[in-house]
Amino acid sequence: MSQFRTFDVCIVGSGAGGGMAAYALTRAGADVIVLEAGGPWDNTRDSAMFDWPYDAPHRGGSTRDRPFGEFDACIGGWEVDGEPYTTALGSRFRWWRARMVGGRTNHWGRISLRFGPDDFRRKTLDGLGDDWPITYDDVKPYYDKVDRLIGIFGSEEHLPNAPDGIFQPPPRPRCWELLVKQAADRLNITCIPSRLSILTRPLNGRPACHYCDQCSRGCRTNSNFSSTNVLVAPALATGKLTLRTNAMAREVTVGADGLATGVTYIDKARGTEEHVRARVVVVAASALSSARILLNSHSPQFPQGLANGSGTVGRYITDTTGTDVAGFIPRLMHHVPHNEDGVGGAHLYMPWWLDNATLDFPRGYHIEIWGGLRVPSAGFMGGIQRYPSGGGYGTQLKDDYRRLYGTTIGFSGRGEMIPNDQSYCELDPTVVDRWGIPVLRFHWQWTDHETRQVKHMQETFRALVAEMGGEVFSPMPAAERGFGISTGGSIIHELGGTRMGNDPASSVVNGYGQAHEVKNLFVADGGPFVSQADKNPTWTILALAWRASDRIMELRRAGQL
Ligand SMILES: Cc1cc2nc3c(=O)[nH]c(=O)nc-3n(C[C@H](O)[C@H](O)[C@H](O)COP(=O)(O)OP(=O)(O)OC[C@H]3O[C@@H](n4cnc5c(N)ncnc54)[C@H](O)[C@@H]3O)c2cc1C
Ligand code: SF4
Repeated sequence: MSQFRTFDVCIVGSGAGGGMAAYALTRAGADVIVLEAGGPWDNTRDSAMFDWPYDAPHRGGSTRDRPFGEFDACIGGWEVDGEPYTTALGSRFRWWRARMVGGRTNHWGRISLRFGPDDFRRKTLDGLGDDWPITYDDVKPYYDKVDRLIGIFGSEEHLPNAPDGIFQPPPRPRCWELLVKQAADRLNITCIPSRLSILTRPLNGRPACHYCDQCSRGCRTNSNFSSTNVLVAPALATGKLTLRTNAMAREVTVGADGLATGVTYIDKARGTEEHVRARVVVVAASALSSARILLNSHSPQFPQGLANGSGTVGRYITDTTGTDVAGFIPRLMHHVPHNEDGVGGAHLYMPWWLDNATLDFPRGYHIEIWGGLRVPSAGFMGGIQRYPSGGGYGTQLKDDYRRLYGTTIGFSGRGEMIPNDQSYCELDPTVVDRWGIPVLRFHWQWTDHETRQVKHMQETFRALVAEMGGEVFSPMPAAERGFGISTGGSIIHELGGTRMGNDPASSVVNGYGQAHEVKNLFVADGGPFVSQADKNPTWTILALAWRASDRIMELRRAGQL
């Protein structure tokens, strides 16, 4: 009878941010309800980790709610039935949304990078964007806690702005990765073991990875991180968590005193509107969904939307910059068959290694690498005719598959975008979703900062392929095409929209994710990020969500919430 009960905390969303908050708050003794728009999922039961590619009903092809292939663990995609979004004239933006317990952590790449000290004070360093109101030292204890709870492998490198964590041993590089490492060394590009939240040693009751390389399908042995089984399941085990699935939050409600009173949501199964009461509300529906919920929570007290007196809800949004280059590496032909098993991701990566003083763009990027001899999936080696003497029919084609499989190595740049005034989201004035809730409309523009950075990525990746004696498959993209820069949103690292700051006139929440205007409202996803950094964001989302949860408990104990 949750509608007659008042919970200590109502959390919206069960992904990285919501799952972490549910874990920390229930462990601290709070009565918590999580509203999750998607359905239930348990990777130890529902994952297709052990299935053969040829057992897939559609040979592994994409489906509407599994765009990365029908065995992929994540239900959601670029289009979600009944939940449209729009883009303003002249803007291109793609928005990937998960709809299931655990959100996107069910198939994320598990690249788990801490932001460095410089990432929290970029304006001080180069005058662009803004500084965070907190420093690396504020977040470090929480990164440490996340490392210890969830588990991460990596190596101690003592790099100034890519801090080491509490690492388990990394897996050894494979043949193709050693080739990349040699080329990177010759070009003076830092190349080190990856930092992935996959266990190489047992931890907290979870066994080590057995190197099946199928992380994107979800891990039946629970050896990699998903919010679902590493955070939400233990939170449920405390008996303090009520998990309401298929519950689509519409708005945060407020009382006459201007404080949040709970959340109104749609019970998707019954099509009814419900309300849950709570003393504290945490929105963690993913950065842009949380901005949408706040914009839709307008009332006479908050006519622009909740916590939006500054008018900055939906502003300062960013995505990671990206571009890819792949090449054919003849030295990898005619390989001696050998075991290339590994974790579901590359064993090496390249953190940002240069000094911007010598470059024509600000900020940096890291490089993710791909290649190798993983279990072939449906459609593998598509485009074989692009390889020298590849293609044809019958026996020759089969021989070419054997000869050429594993000879491709690719590089993906993942860089920092600086927030700009032309990139933001707002409520579309006319379009609503299937429940009548106004949807987001996106405005998006890359600037020269980002396109120059991507040009540098392209040049670097081409140099790496050449250094390995390879041939790149595609010509250098033209300047008019932004040198091959990804469409906004498509790297799926969208951040901002409820940014943190000390000044309520230019920010939505304070350094703890607590709304300036509504003291019992917190944001615990990527919304409060002030800047993007050249790192993937999720490890920082987890650390900040844990920090916000500790703050909630501290304020409640002090009688201030
Ligand atoms: C293919 C892919 C690879 C990625 N790789 C990496 C990586 O290697 N490293 C990295 O750091 N990041 C990676 N990411 C990004 C990472 O997944 C996200 O940063 C992270 O999951 C964000 O956590 P979140 O809690 O903010 O949102 P999510 O994980 O998206 O969770 C949000 C949850 O809220 C629910 N929700 C939304 N709206 C509502 C509503 N109105 N009411 C109720 N519930 C709602 C959703 O259903 C969802 O379950 C990747 C993402 C994808 C898709
Ligand atoms: S590679 Fe390891 S962590 Fe990933 S699904 Fe297989 S066993 Fe699990």
